[in-house]
Amino acid sequence: MIRYIVALLFAVTLVFTQGKGELLPDSCLIPGQSYFSTGGYSEYVHGNLPIVLTAPHGGYDKPEEINDRTRSALNQDIRTMELTRELSKRIYEVTGKYPYVIINKLHRIKLDPNREKEVAIQGDSLAGLAYDEFHELIEIAEKDVYANWGTGFYIDIHAHPYKDRRIELGYLLEAELLFFSDEELNDDLFVEKSSLKNLAKISEYSFAELLRGEVSIGALLENKGWPVLPSPKKPKPKDQFFFSGGYNTVVHGTKSEYNFNGMQIETYWDGLRDTDENIRKFCVDYTDVIIEFMKRHYKIDLTNLSE
Ligand SMILES: [Zn+2]
Repeated sequence: MIRYIVALLFAVTLVFTQGKGELLPDSCLIPGQSYFSTGGYSEYVHGNLPIVLTAPHGGYDKPEEINDRTRSALNQDIRTMELTRELSKRIYEVTGKYPYVIINKLHRIKLDPNREKEVAIQGDSLAGLAYDEFHELIEIAEKDVYANWGTGFYIDIHAHPYKDRRIELGYLLEAELLFFSDEELNDDLFVEKSSLKNLAKISEYSFAELLRGEVSIGALLENKGWPVLPSPKKPKPKDQFFFSGGYNTVVHGTKSEYNFNGMQIETYWDGLRDTDENIRKFCVDYTDVIIEFMKRHYKIDLTNLSE
């Protein structure tokens, strides 16, 4: 019964929301402030930097009005919501401005927004609404970034289940493609497939250099002592288990209409997400890396922005 009442309330809310034509309030959004989608299923933090962070698998909420999913991956990416909030906090501490942040607050057993819709919601209409709104919020953020900056960077934040310490950066090139030489990877075919394609087209560096050379995010993290691939020291995986980037990275990290680039980052547990202190340590370094990357490749100094 409760389920039907809640569903009815949401239907009314939806009509009202659609009537307004806006998911977020019409009034001026405030950077650093949180706004919530229908049912509080997604949290949107408004920003004023050309960076969009998302945490699709870190949610805890298991509302009874949404049916459990039964197929595909169901596990939470533990403490990735906390990591995403800490990263946002650190970026603010250093730059005085906010990245845009979109968090799926639902547990993965209720919704997996990093999948095609059918697998993501598995027939539940409320999960479907949550799915649409999660992606719409990212779209709103990217559109806003584009209007203000003409370009932007998208980061989808995850956790992998492997015991060993390795950060995996996914730019939509699968494991087997990373076995190609730099020269081979500089072919337009791979550039076009990658979530760095919009940057590669205007960069003074080659695509392979952006992907895993001395000026890549992998190199910058490696220089700070984090085990990461692809990078100059680890240009390719040891085995075929490698997260090359999922649905979100495809949809939101490559958007040419907003001139976006992006990446998926898969983090490990032991020494990175296991304690608040380690999350903090990683976010301090990762913030420096993002700032350095944006300065060098986007020619935007996030630490020295005018109002
Ligand atoms: Zn994940």
